Parts: sequence; structure tokens; C-alpha cells
Amino acid sequence: MTATKGVHGIAIPTPWLVGDVNVYVLQDGETVTLVDTGPQTPEAEAALSAGLAEIGLTVGDIDQILLTHFHVDHSGLVERLVKQCGAKVFAHPGTERLIQKNQAVEAERKTFFLDLYRSFGLSDEDGLLAYEQLADYQDYMGQGHVDVMLAEGDRVPGHEAWEVLYTPGHSMDHLSLYRAEDGVMILGDHVIKHISSNAMIEPPADISQPRPRTLVLYREALRKVAAIDWHIGYTGHGEPVTGHRELIEKRLRDQERRAARIVEMVREGRTTGARLCLAMFPHHRNQLSLIVSETLGHLDWLVEEGVLAVEDDQSGIVQYRVVKEMVTCS
Ligand SMILES: [Zn+2]
Ligand SMILES: [Zn+2]
Repeated sequence: MTATKGVHGIAIPTPWLVGDVNVYVLQDGETVTLVDTGPQTPEAEAALSAGLAEIGLTVGDIDQILLTHFHVDHSGLVERLVKQCGAKVFAHPGTERLIQKNQAVEAERKTFFLDLYRSFGLSDEDGLLAYEQLADYQDYMGQGHVDVMLAEGDRVPGHEAWEVLYTPGHSMDHLSLYRAEDGVMILGDHVIKHISSNAMIEPPADISQPRPRTLVLYREALRKVAAIDWHIGYTGHGEPVTGHRELIEKRLRDQERRAARIVEMVREGRTTGARLCLAMFPHHRNQLSLIVSETLGHLDWLVEEGVLAVEDDQSGIVQYRVVKEMVTCS
């Protein structure tokens, strides 16, 4: 799989439904930068080595690793690679604590998610199941450390043509890369051609702060990328994106349709997140954490738009009610 000048894609297998993850080698001068790593499995490591060999490189030649975001399919191999090649790791500041495998951070996340699932209306058993689905990913994750923090507008060191864009929503630490001279993007999981990206619910970086409304942020970041001129975007999964304005417009409309459906269901009496979620996705119990994110993201957005209001009932479960007609929000 190859791409544009100075960008070489390598498909890496993962053990998950999403299938392969695409990592990219940037090589437009002296510096060799690997964008994302694949998960920590022997199969992924072998595929990466084979992909590098196709362009005459070995793991030892990697100077830098840039992570688009902390998800394990993108960052899992970081520890093993750094041990082998000594590369510096570049990522958003928020990535650091999420790839450290720090027990205190994990404990904080567990409390956050179990509380969240309870207020969403899941049973304790389902809440634990959803949390365990998230925690299981850690098995495919090395212990990483970010050496250089990147932010919106930075240039990628060693690849000055590439600009860093902050594109939160799918994850709060998500970065995309943009090369203006020939209109190329590296998108991670921000926009994927064949599937819509989930705006995953996450705890706030500072637990004393409110939880970020990830779908709201995601929609803003989608619009930001839609407004930029580019002709091809290399993605974390599947084929490259072309015709991005149309695709992003479709993603925004699909979210609006889902939101409208949720409003209808609340009106019909499904007033908790869990009831809405299980009605919309009756066959996805094996992906509880994902469908909770999908549902809660839309509920957050509808609350922000003033369409729904929330109230805690006696049991601590959040109840939604319709307070305003929904107008198309984009
Ligand atoms: Zn991801
Ligand atoms: Zn991914």
C-alpha cells in the first residue's frame, strides 16, 4: 500500500473487528518518522517489519514515532519499538498519561466509567462488562512515554511541510497532519471512509473538571477539516478519503438523523441513556462501551442544543426529557 510522495502506508493486523490499522512512514528528507505503531502483538510487529523492509528500512532506522492518538491499535507497540530504535515519541500532551499504564490513572478511569455507566442506567453487571471491554485493550499496550508534545499549528520536526492539526472528538488527544503544498492529510481515526468514527466518551484530563462533550467537539473538528482544501487523506483504517466535504457532510447529517431519532424515543418514554442505547443497538452487547459512547455523545449534544434537559432521579440515574423542538443543528 503506498501513497503520495514521502508517505508510505503499511497495513498492520489487529485482533479486533475493525481489522487492519494503517501506519505511515514519513520520509521526505533525512528523518524517518513512523505515524502510529499497531497493537502490541507478534503479528503486528512482523507486519511492520515486513512493511518497512519493502521500502528498504528496518525498525532501527525509525528516528521518530508520532502518535495520532492513544488508542491501542495506534500506540500499542510504542514501548517495544522505542526499545529497539530509541526513537523520540511525539503526540498531543493528553496522550502521555494514557499510554503510561499508570495504575493511579487506570483506577481513576475505572471509577469514572463505573459512575458514568450507573448514571446512564446500566445495571452494575453491564457497567462492569462495559468497563472491562475498555480495560481489555490494555493487554495489547506497551508502556509509552511522550518526549515531544505537539499542538495545533506546530510543524512536524524533521518534516517541515507537515502541519499538526488538533482534531479532538474520536479521542480527546487526537492529532491529524496536513501538508498544504499538495493537499494531503493523515487523519488517524478522525475521518474514515467506510465507517463512521465513534466520539468515544472519556474522562476529563483533570478529574475535577466536567466531562468533555466529545460528539460536540468532534463535529467542530469535522467542520474544521472540511473547510481545509485537500484532495486525499490517509486514514487509520481502510482506504484513503477523497471528496472529503461530501463524506463529512454525510457524517454530520447521519448524526443529526440519529439525534432526531433519540428525541422521538425520549418523547415515547425511553428516558434513560441505557434504555435508548439498548433500543437503538439491541445486538451490540459485545460492544457496550462503544454503543454507550455513541448514545451519550448524542444526548450530550442534544442537551447542549437545549433540545433535551436532564434531571437526576432518586436513584442517581440521569433522566432526559424533551424541552424544545429539534431544529437541524449544523
Ligand atoms: Zn481510535
Ligand atoms: Zn483506530
